[in-house]
Amino acid sequence: MEKRKFMPEPFKIKMVEHMGTLGKEERKAAIKEAGYNTFLLRSEDCYIDLLTDSGTNAMSDRQWAGLMLGDEAYAGSKNFYHLQAVVREYFGFKYIVPTHQGRGAENILSSLTIKPGDYIPGNMYFTTTRFHQERNGATFRDVIIDEAHDPAADLPFKGNIDLKKFQALIDEVGADKIPYICLAVTVNLAGGQPVSMGNIKAVSELAHKNGIMVMFDATRCVENAYFIKDREEGYQDKTIKEIVHEMFSYGDGCTMSGKKDCITNIGGFLCMNDHDMYVRATGMVVQFEGMPSYGGLAGRDMEAMAIGITESVQYEYISYRVNQIRYLGEKLEAAGVPMVKPFGGHAIFVDARAFLDHLTQDEFPAQSLAAALYETSGVRTMERGIISAGRDVVTGKDHHPKLETIRLTIPRRVYTYAHLDFVADAVIELYNKRKDISGLKWDYEPKVLRFFTGTFKTINPELIKGY
Ligand SMILES: *Cc1c(COP(=O)(O)O)cnc(C)c1O
Repeated sequence: MEKRKFMPEPFKIKMVEHMGTLGKEERKAAIKEAGYNTFLLRSEDCYIDLLTDSGTNAMSDRQWAGLMLGDEAYAGSKNFYHLQAVVREYFGFKYIVPTHQGRGAENILSSLTIKPGDYIPGNMYFTTTRFHQERNGATFRDVIIDEAHDPAADLPFKGNIDLKKFQALIDEVGADKIPYICLAVTVNLAGGQPVSMGNIKAVSELAHKNGIMVMFDATRCVENAYFIKDREEGYQDKTIKEIVHEMFSYGDGCTMSGKKDCITNIGGFLCMNDHDMYVRATGMVVQFEGMPSYGGLAGRDMEAMAIGITESVQYEYISYRVNQIRYLGEKLEAAGVPMVKPFGGHAIFVDARAFLDHLTQDEFPAQSLAAALYETSGVRTMERGIISAGRDVVTGKDHHPKLETIRLTIPRRVYTYAHLDFVADAVIELYNKRKDISGLKWDYEPKVLRFFTGTFKTINPELIKGY
């Protein structure tokens, strides 16, 4: 048979997990109880859970078998050596330090390299990444291309770095105040947008000419490699594995959240080529995570991560994954729902500002929309807008990011196309009653990473008028 545009799931289902469904009144009570913050809902009260693709992956039979091979020795576990060998083969970095998840690696990297007063350029911020940079006294500078902040700009590599902005920062503060550039592949908050190989090479040349390290945020590197194969001249005949390897050949190391593209439920690591930096990283990991041969992970988790990396670069898997996102996006687009374009690698980002154009950004349109979608359908999503962006550390004023979105994040290998049909219908139904949705105001605002645990009140008497 001919290949179809949307091929069925490239796996069959061996084990199932039942999902709960709550009635309308129960959902209304649950979201109110959660302070209109979808992070504070109970999982069992959600129907289709698109909160995040982080750690929500379904592991394969091979990964589950790998758990049984866990060598839980305190030091020198064989699973560490397996993971190290896989990372060297696929990523190409010399040294690897496992950590409990991505932010553990961010903590070590930031503490080792940043002095107060430094600057870290990056292609748009990520919440925990910027937090660790600022915590160590650096100022984050966004050097992504302007178009990345425009939801409608349809570019193949919307995650690219603007070399002029990077050069301008070097001219302004001096290269000695820039220990590294953080290069995210793909860019989560821009909508899962990829960076081209051409841009990676150019960034690397400019950085290295100035003695600045290139540290990748490798979290979704396999999705980025898929887009390079799909869209960039000269890469059509290369394997995903070759492309991943080439991307990293231009860098000095990476932080990795294994909970994303390693297709596991927990884990992460830090990589680098510099021996001295590795030695200093091992000195830190023992303080915060554990021995350098487990870094806060069980042996079995390292085994699952090693196997997950080898599965993630299989073309059937990664093309299916990215196509699921495209499928959902095309359904919503046909109904006129405003979204960040082009569709990214891990999620659909609905443009909440355009969706709820009767609200100002200070009435938290994305937070309201995520709450309303849960209330009407049981589908859980998250806010990526003014709440996630937080306050400026110096002025204390809210950042007002241009992108005010809800993220419909697709967990890896968990939901089928039929689930996505349901999600699309739920969003479209809500779009038709969008004028009835109320804005929100703070009830409790946490000091740091406020989107995780903050709570809200509705501005109008009801979240959705008459629902
Ligand atoms: C998830 C994520 C991180 C942090 O990783 P954790 O495993 O959640 O600590 C860092 N960068 C990006 C782009 C991410 O998506």
